[in-house]
Amino acid sequence: MSTVLETTRTIEDYLTMPDEEMHERIELARKELGPRVVILGHHYQRDDVIRHADLTGDSYQLSVMASQTDAEYIVFCGVHFMAESADILGKPSQHVILPDLGAGCSMADMATIDQVEDAWEQLRDIGVLDSKVAPITYMNSSAAIKAFCGRHEGVVCTSSNAVPLFDIYLKEFDKMFFFPDQHLGRNTGAKFGIPLDKMVLWNPHEDLGGNTPEQLREAKLILWRGHCSVHGRFKDWHVDKIREQVPGVQVLVHPECTREVVEKSDLDGSTSYIIKTVEQSPSGSKWAIGTEVNLVSRLAKRFPDKEIHLLAPDLCMCATMYRIAPQNLARAIENLLDGNVVNEIVVDNETKHHAKVALDRMISLTEKK
Ligand code: SF4
Repeated sequence: MSTVLETTRTIEDYLTMPDEEMHERIELARKELGPRVVILGHHYQRDDVIRHADLTGDSYQLSVMASQTDAEYIVFCGVHFMAESADILGKPSQHVILPDLGAGCSMADMATIDQVEDAWEQLRDIGVLDSKVAPITYMNSSAAIKAFCGRHEGVVCTSSNAVPLFDIYLKEFDKMFFFPDQHLGRNTGAKFGIPLDKMVLWNPHEDLGGNTPEQLREAKLILWRGHCSVHGRFKDWHVDKIREQVPGVQVLVHPECTREVVEKSDLDGSTSYIIKTVEQSPSGSKWAIGTEVNLVSRLAKRFPDKEIHLLAPDLCMCATMYRIAPQNLARAIENLLDGNVVNEIVVDNETKHHAKVALDRMISLTEKK
């Protein structure tokens, strides 16, 4: 489990500060701290935070890149599970800071370790664990759930490597229990031709997840009932509508979108895949992208020669990511100047050890592929 250490300088000192003064103070503090600090900005982060980031990327990339620096302090402008991953993968001498402790991930919060352990015991009680079952968790989950997978021959996956890892696990195990994003699990399972009735949904609030013992014995994939509150808002009719409005548009979506949306799109893939696809597309190409609005807006600004639309124009910001603001970044970084580490995210050693087993397994298996 992670624990949160004490805080010192308060956020109130920053709330009324004019924006430009705050940005200048962040820059000054950054300069003074030099290589002792690295600021990470997730792709979905807002512009007024991303302008201060030393490194930008997705959650796993950022944690790996930060661990390769000699920075003493890693300020993660992302959400809680990302900061935990940075602590798991970081050097023992590195301290990880989440500028706002309220920046959680609604998807990660849909699966708690107690619920997962309870589900596992229910599967044991009905004999499902007599067959070979592998627990697999998406990176967007708590350190405790990653550790659970590490302890039970399971693995962590990202949206980039879910396909090769499913390929390995489907051959070596009778079934998989996938946490916490049902849509990434279902979309990946569909790529292997698993029929929908062999991909059952586990509702943590019902006995046996709302399934019969027979359904669970027959299933190839058990999908935890979690979803991303951002990507879950895209609907299949958004795809129909944009195709009507923008003839020739190509629809490119993240696999955290529902099955219906992915089925209607032209392409689906991770955040890095989305960026690379747009980067490599010819000038004049037209895209409707189903992912977080900040990323799509930055792509549109970067490529004015391409026509880039958000798949649903009235959506979709990650509200929890948005809690990281220049105010709490300024507070975190100026406290470092005073020698205070605020909002430190610390994963306990035992959890860290087992979570690292699952992450190392992910790396070694995907390197072999
Ligand atoms: S975009 Fe979705 S999965 Fe990503 S941090 Fe926000 S709620 Fe979580």
